[in-house]
Amino acid sequence: MQTQIKTTKKTKIDVESTKKEDLKKWVLALEKKTEYSSDKFTKIEEKIKDSIARQVSDEALSDITIWALVLWSSDIHFECFEGKIQVRFRIDWVLVDIFTLNTKEYKLLLERLKYSANLKLNIINLPQDWKYSVKIEDRKVDIRVSVLPTKYWENTVCRILDSKKSIVNFEELWFFWTSKRIIEKTLDKKNGMILVTWPTWSGKTTTLYTMLSKLNTRDKKIITLEDPIEYEMPWVVQTEVNEKVWFTFESWLKSILRQDPDIVMVWEIRDSETLTTAVNASLTGHLVLSTLHTKSASETIDRILSMWLKAYIMASALDVIIAQRLVRKICPYCKVEKEKTSQEVALIKAMMEEIDMKNIWTDNIKLYEWTWCDKCNNSGFKWRIWIYEIIHINESIRDLIRWSQKSDEIIKAAKDTWFISMKEDGILKAIKWFTTIEEVLRVI
Ligand SMILES: [Zn+2]
Repeated sequence: MQTQIKTTKKTKIDVESTKKEDLKKWVLALEKKTEYSSDKFTKIEEKIKDSIARQVSDEALSDITIWALVLWSSDIHFECFEGKIQVRFRIDWVLVDIFTLNTKEYKLLLERLKYSANLKLNIINLPQDWKYSVKIEDRKVDIRVSVLPTKYWENTVCRILDSKKSIVNFEELWFFWTSKRIIEKTLDKKNGMILVTWPTWSGKTTTLYTMLSKLNTRDKKIITLEDPIEYEMPWVVQTEVNEKVWFTFESWLKSILRQDPDIVMVWEIRDSETLTTAVNASLTGHLVLSTLHTKSASETIDRILSMWLKAYIMASALDVIIAQRLVRKICPYCKVEKEKTSQEVALIKAMMEEIDMKNIWTDNIKLYEWTWCDKCNNSGFKWRIWIYEIIHINESIRDLIRWSQKSDEIIKAAKDTWFISMKEDGILKAIKWFTTIEEVLRVI
């Protein structure tokens, strides 16, 4: 990698004639390598191993959980290989090696994990899952544990469900001001529907829970249908569908609607029956928030129509589609302005032209890079930010959907209003120094 970068820097290219795709490759090749490392990792290892040696496994488990929280991790992984167990934390959505355990050490910790999460100690050949809680400064943090038998032993993954980090202030969702206005207007409506679309690791949980907490006032009744309940919200009636009994998502949702809610949150639309019930709820005086597993806002429209929902019904029920991706936020503590390469300037210029923002003088745009510090575990990144593509279903788009127009026609019409594509939002966030151009290039 290093030699490649050196060669790239020396070679002169004609940036004017180079294709955008090639420019992207050049820019990505010049990126500084990110490797998470910190003295803290050694400290964690020493502390945990000391507790295990003293046979106080509850202390070891509590310490490992607290350290994961301190490092802003979302998950703790224990991966079994021959003779050793790798402990990894997912920090900023990237898996980071923290330390290794030997089989004797892991045995003690695994038993404590299974005991704390109410799992059966004697079952070692079947997957199991449940949760445990830790108390940190007067608040309770739930940890969902999943144990999976593998070739060598049982692998464990602990998902940290920390509401303090996952429900943010609405402003901190960083919607572009026009999109923010549209979403706020829709959240004020008595009936309607907001769909968040999500590939894996897009942070939809935070977006949904944050919108819900904005709606959470004492004059409204909110009922959720979740799978499973991730965070407890005060005054919200939260339910978890139990498909082991005869109830399906759809029949559960119908029961919820008989409870006179104002706002309903359906964790995920998985089938056409649930979609029809959710759409009917929106048309009969409820505000519905839900998610669909698609890659983009435009794909969502095609997907819904392929789920046998009649176009004119969907046109009346739906208000906003939010497609989102996560990018890592550049560390605010060690970022410095960097000298732009000719490739970067050419690429930004090409991208600006493509999104019709050629009037912005690219020479004035500043780019930042990091210098590594302890606060970001020497990775250059700290926390994350979303980039969005939001379609507001206004009257002209409703008409297009009613006439079953293809999604590209709909996007074309959306561009006549305040539509910001994922690419535009990404570039705007990179030039506002929230993230790096390379992070944006990877997801768009
Ligand atoms: Zn830093």
